[in-house]
Amino acid sequence: MNLSNLSRRDFTRLSALGTLGVAAQLSDLTSLAAPTGQVQSGPVPSSKPVGYAIIGLGRIADHFMAGCQDTAKSPHPSKVTGLVSGHPEKAAAIAQKYGVPKSSIYTYENMDEMRNNPAIEAVYVALPNSMHAEYSVRSAKAGKHVLCEKPMATSVKDAQDMIDACKAANVKLMIAYRCHYETTNLAAVKLIRDGHLGQIQSIQSAFGFSCDPADWRMKKALAGGGPLMDVGIYSLNATRYLTNEEPSEIVAYSHSSLTDPRFKEVEENVVWMTKFPSGATATCNTTYGAQMDGYFRVYGSKGWLEVNPAFVYDGLRLKAEYTDDQGKFIQLDQPNPEKDPIHFTNEANHFSTCVRENRTPQSPGEEGLKDMTYLRQIYHSAGLNNL
Ligand code: NAD
Repeated sequence: MNLSNLSRRDFTRLSALGTLGVAAQLSDLTSLAAPTGQVQSGPVPSSKPVGYAIIGLGRIADHFMAGCQDTAKSPHPSKVTGLVSGHPEKAAAIAQKYGVPKSSIYTYENMDEMRNNPAIEAVYVALPNSMHAEYSVRSAKAGKHVLCEKPMATSVKDAQDMIDACKAANVKLMIAYRCHYETTNLAAVKLIRDGHLGQIQSIQSAFGFSCDPADWRMKKALAGGGPLMDVGIYSLNATRYLTNEEPSEIVAYSHSSLTDPRFKEVEENVVWMTKFPSGATATCNTTYGAQMDGYFRVYGSKGWLEVNPAFVYDGLRLKAEYTDDQGKFIQLDQPNPEKDPIHFTNEANHFSTCVRENRTPQSPGEEGLKDMTYLRQIYHSAGLNNL
């Protein structure tokens, strides 16, 4: 199912697929302000947990592992059952925390041996961008379902290879687009789909931060590009799920400071404009040179909405103003009390449900591939030869 086609029925189905709590809240947007808690209540687990090997034990992996812990009461729980790391001491400490046996700790070199480990059914690929393709393909060949972080890859070809490898191995592939499983983003989508904003005219979105020069994100060979690959992709993806359309035209500019040594390999700033077939337009900014809160603002013929912040792990807030069908002026201001790692819990619930119930993820490899092709268009329009 495509997030861009969400109907009331789809929201109910999303909930059944593991985006727990979301549909209930969406049926009454005002209930967004009510706390939902991190552990989803509901039926007693109906299946044994889906065991995940975590490939790359960095910052995002920490959030995901904490999110898995909070799935214990979900119908299809998720459990960390394997680790792949180049740092034995770090792996040993994490193994102790999550109860992973020593025999299920692998290195990047021997991780293919996990094909003989039935406790591992899926992997979560949380490595630098250019490593996503190799480790996703190797995991698929080892017979494991693949949940891979965004951006999917650092070339369109690699993204296609990942899809092909997962199809050939008959395993599932999902790209970890957190916001597809996040309550406030879904509430914004629903307001638009229900017609409250009328015809979408224009979207503004941005996301950026000042990047540490020592981060792998500054190395083109590992990152594939700069802020556009890392955080600009949130704005790009959001404009697609908000409009329910694919871009028909893209123009972009990029600028990098010649005096800042950080930007020798990757770009500093990108701004791009997108036109959609309906005539809706989007203007998006991303940077590694400044703190730029991740947000989007949507202007429609009958009203506007804003989610700010929209892309961070908690503290999301939805504001909207529109005139309803009865001519009543509606003003919404809904802070979302959900706390980190709830997005990751939702994401894990969704993928584990897809694995157990043999369903296609809501953000499959094909969704990641689409973004890769648009990222490439943006770069090429800006005169950069990435992807
Ligand atoms: P990180 O630097 O914190 O972790 C990267 C991990 O990869 C580390 O464990 C590191 O040891 C390992 N690694 C293996 N080979 C490496 C190499 N050659 N160079 C550097 N590290 C190497 O990075 P992160 O922030 O966790 O990002 C990992 C992935 O997750 C990226 O693709 C990023 O885009 C994505 N990400 C997603 C979100 C999200 O909210 N969905 C947020 C942050 C990062």
